[in-house]
Amino acid sequence: MYRSHTCGELRLADAGREVTLAGWVQRTRKMGGMTFIDLRDRYGITQLVVDESASPALNEEAGKLGREYVVQVKGQVAERSSKNNRIPTGEIEVQLHSIQVLNASVVPPFTIEDDSDGGEEIRSRFRYLDLRRNPLKKALELRHKMAHEVRNYLDAQHFMEIETPYLIKSTPEGARDFVVPSRMNPGQFYALPQSPQTFKQLLMVAGYDRYFQIVRCFRDEDLRADRQPEFTQIDCEMSFVEREDILNTFEGMCKALFKNVLGRELEGQFPRISYADAMNYYGSDKPDIRFGMKISELTDLVKGHGFGVFDDAPYIGGICVSGAAEYTRKQVDELTEWVKRPQVGAKGMVYVRCNADGSFKSSVDKFYGPEQLAAIATAMQAQPGDLILILCGPRKKTQEALGTLRIEMGNRLGLRNPEEYAPLWVCDFPLLEWDDETQRFYAMHHPFTAPKPEDMDKFFSDKKEDLEQVCANAYDFVLNGTEVGGGSIRIHDAQVQKRMFEVLGFSEADAEERFGFIINAFRYGAPPHGGIAFGFDRFCALFGGQETIRDYIAFPKNNQGRDVMLDAPAGIDQVQMDELFLESKAPVVEQ
Ligand code: ASP
Repeated sequence: MYRSHTCGELRLADAGREVTLAGWVQRTRKMGGMTFIDLRDRYGITQLVVDESASPALNEEAGKLGREYVVQVKGQVAERSSKNNRIPTGEIEVQLHSIQVLNASVVPPFTIEDDSDGGEEIRSRFRYLDLRRNPLKKALELRHKMAHEVRNYLDAQHFMEIETPYLIKSTPEGARDFVVPSRMNPGQFYALPQSPQTFKQLLMVAGYDRYFQIVRCFRDEDLRADRQPEFTQIDCEMSFVEREDILNTFEGMCKALFKNVLGRELEGQFPRISYADAMNYYGSDKPDIRFGMKISELTDLVKGHGFGVFDDAPYIGGICVSGAAEYTRKQVDELTEWVKRPQVGAKGMVYVRCNADGSFKSSVDKFYGPEQLAAIATAMQAQPGDLILILCGPRKKTQEALGTLRIEMGNRLGLRNPEEYAPLWVCDFPLLEWDDETQRFYAMHHPFTAPKPEDMDKFFSDKKEDLEQVCANAYDFVLNGTEVGGGSIRIHDAQVQKRMFEVLGFSEADAEERFGFIINAFRYGAPPHGGIAFGFDRFCALFGGQETIRDYIAFPKNNQGRDVMLDAPAGIDQVQMDELFLESKAPVVEQ
């Protein structure tokens, strides 16, 4: 046996024991006639000690150990004279009789400490060294625990984990496909799945009425924000269910995760709000409800007082920021510049300050007297000491800008506590979105999402206005302002599915060529079904209280979609190109 114990295991009760440990040398230091070595493995750190006077030869060997050497040591556990209560093994040390170097290490390019001195780029290139650090180890442990709990819960609910293929034909989730050329089928390509959507529906047709899979998905998107070209979903589907059954089942899963991973009991049902309300009150389809500061519409109230900007605006709305009346003129001006940034997109901002003495001060005092300002304050339920911020313009765009401003004020006022969790369901999304540029409808979720039964007439209408009003039987799971899951009740009728492709502008031949297999499957007794998928990486990051998903993935890609450790993607040699009947048109890059 290489080791009798791990480096995280020994305690005071083990004093006197002869032990063998193996691990990495975190650091060595000399003090008096002693050499101390911190030995690290996945489980912790144990202090080793060599006494020069007792064993000069061993002391010399200890002196030769460098950082990250892999060693096997033998010795006796002893109580430490100066204890370290920050680590579980801090009461003991191992007094060594032998050291065997199992493998030397070159000097690592950065320190393997909780706060490493290495920058992002160098740590990514040496990811296997970065993964030796505690924060990343904790992140991967959390991920493992989450996956384990998901499997436990779903298994107990009779879900079967079934694998689906990676080399497939395009499944539309609204992104570009990654493609793989086929050597055996010259000139033809597989697409990597953006999700197993069509397969899980076919499994429902096949009668496997509760499916799940913790599965990799691939989307060739521009990597804005915190996305990865390959990411993991908890993908699920159920037959003979209505929306409520799905929401309840997966609310149960989320609660089990909160309880078993974070030790938190979430009481009661998660709030459910409609997409329309989410937009009206939070200016976002993924509202952060850890704090209030809801949006109030003021359109009717403030129009008609001679202030041209408001009089011409189709929508006027505001938020009331509690206790922010002491914001100085300079701070308000800075905020006004902030809302004009392209990411927010407002043209300007009006403020109403509700002074502590009950009077008001606003940037539009010329047009609105004290009574009118008081009416605005009443409409917004503002109290003395609050600051009202108002934006105007086209409805959706302005609501979104107010939503962004609301989040910014939440951040500035420290209202978004990462230790607090506020989950909710957003339901009743529009089925379709019209795109002016391409003059066609797009599926807001994906083309397999069912319209609400009560909107079926409108769905078969030829009028654009009717189609715009069709509601989808779709839902998103939102946690602290982040969309973590999304799903829908599906279409299970061949006629309705055909109509969907028609609405989305596919010719009959096109729809047949791309999705004939699923339309056809629906002719053989497809049960009513629906499902959901959770972004697993993001779920883990939220549970870990982190913004970025990268630490929760063992080997992630960078913002350019590159694996800088492997240096992928990379060219392939001419033989491979020829075998695949490929010719490159990429510009030659001079090295
Ligand atoms: N396939 C969908 C997605 O990846 C989720 C679902 O509808 O189940 O977003």
